[in-house]
Amino acid sequence: MRLKRCEGLKRQGYQFVKPGSSAAVKPCLWCKRSLTGGGQCYKHQFYGIESHLCVQMTPTLMCNQRCLFCWRSFEYEEPDTFILQPHEIIEALPGLQKKALSGYKVNPHVPEERFLEALTPRHVAISLSGEPTLYPWLPELIDRLTEKNYSTFLVSNGTKPEMLRRCRPTQLYISLDAPDKETYESLCRPSSDLWANVLTSISEMSRQRSAVRITMVKGINDHSPEKYGAILKDSGATFIEVKGYMYLGYSRKRLERGNMPEHTEVQEFAKSISEYSDYKILDESPLSRVICLERGV
Ligand code: SF4
Repeated sequence: MRLKRCEGLKRQGYQFVKPGSSAAVKPCLWCKRSLTGGGQCYKHQFYGIESHLCVQMTPTLMCNQRCLFCWRSFEYEEPDTFILQPHEIIEALPGLQKKALSGYKVNPHVPEERFLEALTPRHVAISLSGEPTLYPWLPELIDRLTEKNYSTFLVSNGTKPEMLRRCRPTQLYISLDAPDKETYESLCRPSSDLWANVLTSISEMSRQRSAVRITMVKGINDHSPEKYGAILKDSGATFIEVKGYMYLGYSRKRLERGNMPEHTEVQEFAKSISEYSDYKILDESPLSRVICLERGV
């Protein structure tokens, strides 16, 4: 059963660190586009991350939420996978990235120099699938990556504040996908009563460079900007990203195309959140339908 599930993810481009393990790498669309000179992820525009030097990975496939907008399949969560030690994951990263990008070596649109650069990634985005704070050695994994001179982005749903307190990534992302508990429970469908944990995590973001990500799902969580503003005011986060939901992957089984806002609607919503908080609009990427706000600009 386990292998069958892993096969499903492999077909989606996941490279597992070891067969049956919970850790995996998958180059994102922007990494591949960057190689061919076809543009870079908005994280390059906002934060200077070179997409072709970025590894998108996860140390676990498990998650304690079932967000309607998640593009991942919940069928591929594998509680019976075995968990790898941080050093086993880190040692495998360059080899897995190389394997995943090997087809680009002969692509006439990929300059050789750029391809060779991509084989030595410098940034790790812990964001591929699942909730990384469910991985028991997450702080050690991040510290070891830092020792190896990787910069790290940690993307979390914020449900485990006690774990986040021990993590020191280059930039911490926490999702805030609802202005109140009722919306959170219907949209993110947590495994237990976790709303208070999310609020605690967000209130502790001033400890480090950090960003709150709001995935705006039209008709579901795009209301009560004053409530978002009140939560954000106390967050201490460096940045806020308001990002439009994209009708992609398995989320299409749970939502409709109409839940995907236009960029102008994301702009309007970000503007109203800005009016109720001390964050001001800094930059935007219409292609990714995302607006970046910064505290006190
Ligand atoms: S928290 Fe992240 S991985 Fe988990 S269901 Fe939500 S979007 Fe998917």
